[in-house]
Amino acid sequence: MTFEQLGLSAPLLRAVNEKGYTEPSPIQVEAIPAVLAGRDIMAAAQTGTGKTAGFTLPILQLLHQGDEPHPHRIRVLILTPTRELAAQVADSVTTYGAHLPFKSAVVFGGVKINPQIAKLRQGVDILVATPGRLLDLHGQGEVDFRALEILVLDEADRMLDMGFIHDIRRILKLLPDRRQNLLFSATFANEIRALTRSILHDPVEVEVAPRNTTAERVEQWVYPVDKSKKTALLRELVIDHDWQQVLVFTRTKHGANRLAQSLEKAGINAAAIHGNKSQGARTRALEGFKGGSVRVLVATDIAARGLDIAQLPQVVNFDLPNVPEDYVHRIGRTGRAGSSGKAYSLVSADEIKQLNDIQQVIQRYITREYISGFEPDHEVPANAPLRKPGQPRQGQRRPGGGNNSRGGAQTARGRGSEGHKRPRRRRSGARAK
Ligand code: AMP
Repeated sequence: MTFEQLGLSAPLLRAVNEKGYTEPSPIQVEAIPAVLAGRDIMAAAQTGTGKTAGFTLPILQLLHQGDEPHPHRIRVLILTPTRELAAQVADSVTTYGAHLPFKSAVVFGGVKINPQIAKLRQGVDILVATPGRLLDLHGQGEVDFRALEILVLDEADRMLDMGFIHDIRRILKLLPDRRQNLLFSATFANEIRALTRSILHDPVEVEVAPRNTTAERVEQWVYPVDKSKKTALLRELVIDHDWQQVLVFTRTKHGANRLAQSLEKAGINAAAIHGNKSQGARTRALEGFKGGSVRVLVATDIAARGLDIAQLPQVVNFDLPNVPEDYVHRIGRTGRAGSSGKAYSLVSADEIKQLNDIQQVIQRYITREYISGFEPDHEVPANAPLRKPGQPRQGQRRPGGGNNSRGGAQTARGRGSEGHKRPRRRRSGARAK
């Protein structure tokens, strides 16, 4: 299946091509035609499945086929539970809409409202919003839903978990009855089913294999970065996020030592733990880490296996493991009961094979985010398409060929869709902003 076969128009195919996607993901194969046909959809899909493109691409196409927008009148409303997700989705809208004339905006709480009002007053076709701020803006008369055609509820289960049900119901009352509704949720528990019944009309149900693995409890990011800048990026992350206890994985013992030393030099208490360290040194490092005197514990995969430490709020992969299953073990170190852990991977261009292998094992794409000041000179090539477990790669059976042959031709020229921090030259002429 190709994006062309899904019926997307040339400006969208161009944007997809610039992102380096070679094939639609399963959710995209199912969702895109249904949205284009004007149907409501109810999709069980988590982050990492490519769901954002699954709704953004066909929405852009529907808008393109439709009437001209009226200033101030919103034609598409995308509701998300968190500002982070709102920013990511808005960034995808900008990326996929780069060759179309639509304007988009994102509004969420916790930041000044006036710039958001100014943006809305310029006229917006696609609005991405968190519920509370949207209601504030509506209360101030700054949003007009009369021209609304499509509503998306992204991560609906999380919205309910976060107590947004009343806000959602209030928002629904403000929208025209005749509209297309797209609802995405990781799960379809009873509460969600009740909500869907009241919102969706004869929905197409879309589901990509639910998998209850560790990898799903953990929020994961890839930070593309040149190899030579990884240490500096890690330093910045530790300081910026004020991480007090972070487990960092390296592939080699030597790498672990070097990293711990350079963090120490930068005034961040760190210790390395690996097979060449004496038992005494290991115990000291571990005790220091547990007791809070060691802020960063740098470990190799083997050393980390035996570590008796409680679940941590976050782990960092300083480099990706060669064995993809080790990635799953690594990130399994984070995520406390009831709250999701976070795993950040610093990935350089030469690690695309490891990244693709990991994505294949966990059956999801990991969101890429670019950290300002650390944008790589050598871009990490685009993701290889995900295959169902056990399915061989197409036509890539050359002896010793690996799967890197896709990398060269399809190098991502754009950033990850979520790379909102990255200044983009290519985007400067684009109107979708
Ligand atoms: P999402 O599930 O929408 O959060 O997407 C997760 C990641 O998958 C994002 O970084 C996307 O850029 C990437 N992605 C989405 N669709 C595709 C595709 N067809 N091929 C490769 N990567 C994709």
